[in-house]
Amino acid sequence: MSKFNINKARFATLCVHGSGGVDPATGALGIPIYQSSTFAFKSAEDGAALFLGEKEGYVYTRLGNPTQAAFEREMAFLEGGEAALAFGSGMAAISSLIFALCRSGDNFVSSDTLYGGTHNLFADRLPKYDIDAREINALDLSNIENAIDERTRLIYIETPANPTLAIIDIEKCSKIAKKHHIPLVIDNTFSTPYFQKPLQLGANIIVHSATKYIGGHGDTVAGIIIGKKEFMNELRAEYLRDFGGIISPLNAWLLVRGLKTLAVRMERHQENAFQLAKYLSFHPKVENVWYPGLSTHPHHDIAKKQMSGYGGMISFEVKGGRKAGEKLMNSVKLFTLAVSLGDVDSLIEHPASMTHSTYSAEDLKKLGITENLVRISVGIEDPSDLIEDLSQALKLIKS
Ligand SMILES: *Cc1c(COP(=O)(O)O)cnc(C)c1O
Repeated sequence: MSKFNINKARFATLCVHGSGGVDPATGALGIPIYQSSTFAFKSAEDGAALFLGEKEGYVYTRLGNPTQAAFEREMAFLEGGEAALAFGSGMAAISSLIFALCRSGDNFVSSDTLYGGTHNLFADRLPKYDIDAREINALDLSNIENAIDERTRLIYIETPANPTLAIIDIEKCSKIAKKHHIPLVIDNTFSTPYFQKPLQLGANIIVHSATKYIGGHGDTVAGIIIGKKEFMNELRAEYLRDFGGIISPLNAWLLVRGLKTLAVRMERHQENAFQLAKYLSFHPKVENVWYPGLSTHPHHDIAKKQMSGYGGMISFEVKGGRKAGEKLMNSVKLFTLAVSLGDVDSLIEHPASMTHSTYSAEDLKKLGITENLVRISVGIEDPSDLIEDLSQALKLIKS
């Protein structure tokens, strides 16, 4: 039987068919959940060779597991990277990566508008290990250049940024990184490889909270790093094995399943988000709408250049301050008041008091995370139902 040439396939086909592999052990089309902590050796010599790394195979699930390997293979494939390494959460992936690249006395440069947990790690946890995270406004690229010195080990950029949807030019950042011979790391959680391919834009390493769009159903927490094979092997041996932040086989399986529908989900998230962003833009009780797809977005041109679509996240300011925002969040009926994002269900939250409460009041102000900023993760419901829900809730706000 002649085989379909997967290398010629478009992205949606790749999501469904993956790297072309069935389970090597059984031929199962769906990868089985290898719910086992340990793997039997064929002989004492076989076990010793596996431990020495002279032979490939499975030993113990903290060191590797076939279901985890399937998820890593698919993610590397979809991001166009050599290899990937899965973790039990996005934060496990990010912290392991920083510890792998930096030692005590080193520093790195990071964009200042970050996921709240990432900021917490960078600003509050890393100083204890004498690692200096220099959070700067990366919208002005000269700030990156100025923060780099001989102990700078990486540039870390989140784009689109959480929660302001600021867009940072990946290609331009990669030129600075190259000039200084340090890797550029991109948090690609908001876009996924469906809308943004950082490696093609010159980035060296990608991190994801796979909890979000990759899983897509709000039923698991996970993270992943994509990069060069040699570096991933080193990370596996030194950081996954010894720090132990592994993903469970069941969660890896949920993510492999999630990837199959990534393309259709992202299309629908985006379609719905566009409709809601336009609706909100014209609403008299809404002040500012941040959605990279709108031509009014301050970085729309960069978004258009480096992304093939704009995703499903919108932030907006409700007229009437914190009270008005709270009224909106307490009045929606179809949206769920919850953090996290990228689920098939629509979610709504208040960054200043929830996901970004790790930032000081002063930093929140500087970054534009105002008291009346509301963030929505637009799900895949019928957009008319979502608009009706926002409409009835906005009506209840006294102007
Ligand atoms: C959620 C999130 C993280 C952290 O991931 P967890 O899976 O919650 O540990 C990191 N970056 C971004 C952009 C996120 O949204």
